Amino acid sequence: ERDTAPRDTAVFDLIAQEGERQKYGLELIASENFTSAAVREAVGSVLTNKYAEGYPGKRWYGGCEVVDQVETLAIERAKQLFGADWANVQPHSGSSANIAVYGALLNPGDTVLGMDLSHGGHLTHGSPVNFSGQRYTIVGYKVDPETELIDMDNVRTLAHEHRPQMIIAGASAYSRVIDFAAFRAIADEVGAILFADIAHIAGLVAAGVHPSPLPHAHVVATTTHKTLRGPRSGLLLSSDADIATKLDRAIFPGHQGGPLEHVIAGKAVAFGEALKPEFKAYSEQVVKNARAMAAEFQSLGYRVVSGGTDNHMFVLDIRPQGLNGTKATKLLDAAHITISKSTLPYDTEKILHGGGIRIGTPAVTTRGMKEAEMKAVAGLIDRALKGEDVKAEVHAFAGSFYLP
Ligand code: PLP
Repeated sequence: ERDTAPRDTAVFDLIAQEGERQKYGLELIASENFTSAAVREAVGSVLTNKYAEGYPGKRWYGGCEVVDQVETLAIERAKQLFGADWANVQPHSGSSANIAVYGALLNPGDTVLGMDLSHGGHLTHGSPVNFSGQRYTIVGYKVDPETELIDMDNVRTLAHEHRPQMIIAGASAYSRVIDFAAFRAIADEVGAILFADIAHIAGLVAAGVHPSPLPHAHVVATTTHKTLRGPRSGLLLSSDADIATKLDRAIFPGHQGGPLEHVIAGKAVAFGEALKPEFKAYSEQVVKNARAMAAEFQSLGYRVVSGGTDNHMFVLDIRPQGLNGTKATKLLDAAHITISKSTLPYDTEKILHGGGIRIGTPAVTTRGMKEAEMKAVAGLIDRALKGEDVKAEVHAFAGSFYLP
């Protein structure tokens, strides 16, 4: 039957507006990226019509012979990409993946050692307003006040003091290499599970640009939409068969119903893209770009947290400029430059505002920008933060770059 209904302009006009916003703005949110047309085609496909509770070959519904192949393809590509023995591609998001990890491996009330939220950790690593902080006993480790690097001595001391059942290595706002081997050594000393949450750096790990947690962590969770450049979703990986069985049960039937096979197809496409040599070159450029922009900010007189970056993002301390995260976000939004506010380690600003801004290069690198453009972008940000109207320049600049 032909769909003869008139186009729903209320919705599609907004989608078109969002497309314009993405094309003519500068996207510097560290957790965002631009998916390929192929990823978006898969996500918008007929697979959204299909119920498929269960796993390939073990479904509760009939008619799963095609989606079984889609999901198997996604699983096999994820395993190949990360060098894991097992993958679950059903988590609807990074948070869903993390909920399953806690649900599979811990009992309510158990102790978890994770990175303090204000030092760069994620809500699901123990924030009091999140299930993690509400159902589990959370201990937060911090960065060194001088170097602003994760203080592994502090991690070890807290681990021995609190004997956590699980230690989380991973962050939402940390610009340096995470030493997964050192975390595993500490986890082994106290008999804890090591959970690596690589939501931010997954693309860099897949491309070999950041060390992989897989030889070290008992379980790895990630989002698929940040540096990995897939659809908005989640993924679980492990090479421990017992833990894998528990995680499969925790996802279904434990915490989710029918998987989103259209999004799983989008993940399969993105994993296929990430397996290509171009993705390694892209990921290397992401890091070069972040380093170039951080260095340019330093030469413009800004303080970069930890003095630089090894990955796709960095945090600027903008208190010396008389700003906070909220004020800076407003100034940059007006210039159509999109960033996210950030708390700083040992921040003196209210958490609500944060004393910093987090800047990431995955999205602008997808648009083909390189080091020279990063300097130009830093200059535009600097001028916008000083109150100059740079919107027209931003539009002309951003609009001249490719957008998938
Ligand atoms: N874990 C980390 C480290 C993250 O940074 C994020 C997202 O920002 C998540 C988990 C949660 O992902 P989602 O927003 O898909 O639930």
